[in-house]
Amino acid sequence: DVVANQIAAGEVVVRPASAVKELMENSIDALATKIEVIIQDSGKTKIQVIDNGSGMSEMDARMCLERHATSKISTNEDLQKLFSLGFRGEALPSIASVSQLELKTRQEGEEMGLRLEVHGSEVIKQEYCQAEIGTSITISNLFYNTPARRKFLKSDTVEFKHILDVFQNLALAYPDIHLTLYHNDRLYHQLYPGNLKQRIVQIFGNPYEHRLIHVKEDTDYLKITGFVGKPENAKKSRGEQYLYINNRYIKNFRLTLAVYQAYEKLIDDNSYPFFCLFLQMDPEKMDVNVHPTKQEIKLEDENFVFNIMQSAVKHALMQYSV
Ligand code: ADP
Ligand code: MG
Repeated sequence: DVVANQIAAGEVVVRPASAVKELMENSIDALATKIEVIIQDSGKTKIQVIDNGSGMSEMDARMCLERHATSKISTNEDLQKLFSLGFRGEALPSIASVSQLELKTRQEGEEMGLRLEVHGSEVIKQEYCQAEIGTSITISNLFYNTPARRKFLKSDTVEFKHILDVFQNLALAYPDIHLTLYHNDRLYHQLYPGNLKQRIVQIFGNPYEHRLIHVKEDTDYLKITGFVGKPENAKKSRGEQYLYINNRYIKNFRLTLAVYQAYEKLIDDNSYPFFCLFLQMDPEKMDVNVHPTKQEIKLEDENFVFNIMQSAVKHALMQYSV
């Protein structure tokens, strides 16, 4: 029902950037190799995500607007392991309940695509149409029917910064996906498929080509790959620190500290090195469900992971300085 969806929306979709994240993650889950993100007015008037993924059947398309209609879990055990990004079937119904949503989709083998128009949870139009294979979802006038939430939104600059963060966080985790981002008809990012280093350089600029130190660590418990910045390029402000567990962007104060401390006397206080590190470990050893937006993660053996990370970064820095 609409109210339950709006309540859920309050948890899952707090701002335009959360909607962008949910839509992009769905495209990734649908195995898209190209995702286009088109934003107007920092997402306040329009958010469109177009992908070339699997598309949806007519049934899927109608179902996905119902609560808990996820196609991604079949057993409770799956729920714990979380191989795909989405797992609760809450995002689309939540977004639909607080916006005007258009869904266009076509699966391979279908001649015609399907177009659905939804206003605040209610399907007001359904028709067949011409469509590329994949899915396009357009969210207009987010929070149009929840004025309190709309009022809570920050300035365009701030809201767009959040969208940019979401886009970049995913762009780093999926360098093999072709990603584009438009804001108010201006092209912000055109990221061609490549490896992680190429993606970092595409996002942060050509100088990064010569600023990165490769990190690699392989233990039974934990695998680490990625890059840390050279000490001499550390910046006076934070903002270029990216940490992922099982390819999911997370924030973790302790583990971030592990990286900073690995630099020891190589950088002065109040300087922060770039890093983009990917940790791979058994999903059973963590709890990702501590927050609906899934950015916070609780680790079973945080100290242990802290130590491995710190020594991996130290090791990489030592290799570099000799
Ligand atoms: P979840 O991702 O947790 O399953 P969502 O509400 O985000 O829940 O999506 C509901 C369902 O809609 C998905 O499980 C999937 O079947 C379908 N879906 C959503 N977006 C796409 C997309 N871009 N391509 C294909 N299927 C999609
Ligand atoms: Mg989802």
